[in-house]
Amino acid sequence: MALKEITEKAKPAKILAVSKLQPAEKVRALHVEGQRLFGENYVQEALEKQSVLSDLSDIQWHLIGHLQKNKAKLVVGKFHLIHSVDSLELAQVISRQCEQKGVSQNILIQVNLAGEASKEGFSAETLENQWAELTKLPHLHIYGLMTMPPLTETGAEVRPYFAELRQLRDRLKTTTDTTVHPLNELSMGTSHDYPVAVEEGATIVRLGTILFGERPAKG
Ligand SMILES: *Cc1c(COP(=O)(O)O)cnc(C)c1O
Repeated sequence: MALKEITEKAKPAKILAVSKLQPAEKVRALHVEGQRLFGENYVQEALEKQSVLSDLSDIQWHLIGHLQKNKAKLVVGKFHLIHSVDSLELAQVISRQCEQKGVSQNILIQVNLAGEASKEGFSAETLENQWAELTKLPHLHIYGLMTMPPLTETGAEVRPYFAELRQLRDRLKTTTDTTVHPLNELSMGTSHDYPVAVEEGATIVRLGTILFGERPAKG
């Protein structure tokens, strides 16, 4: 589907074009069509692409893949938003790296609502228990929550997860200083379920396949 059409369909959510495993030229082509937000999963690949495309100074890069603690120092300050902060320990490491570099970092908290062992992220309960500690960490700005629901056949089955993420965000917001942690973003919905996510309040939809076609295998 064409970018314009999808952009209309996703409104009012922003589209994050997920360019993992896609060549830099495809990013450049979508940029020509007007796309500015791009999401990457793998640190090394992302940094290489940023370097190759450094002439496109108005691209906003987001990191959406699992981040290992020992790689935090490579990414801090290099991404507009890290969607995949999936543990208190990782948040602490990012905060320390910010301290050393004298920068601040915008993040989202990744939530694993279905409790799938194969997925990273806070359970809703752990997040609520650790919220005070998370929000006290210096140099971090928590812009909202991100989730990746179970892969199901239809949008109807994922809707409750999207609604739950919104409700969790709303609850956390009541005890949060939103001048520090705005909590206004909900990153949810991918190529096959983004219309449902938008109906449930997504502000960022993460779209790969529908924009770029099938991804090459990870080599
Ligand atoms: C790859 C990926 C996407 C994009 O998925 P598509 O089905 O290609 O739209 C979205 N979110 C995350 C976290 C991803 O890893």
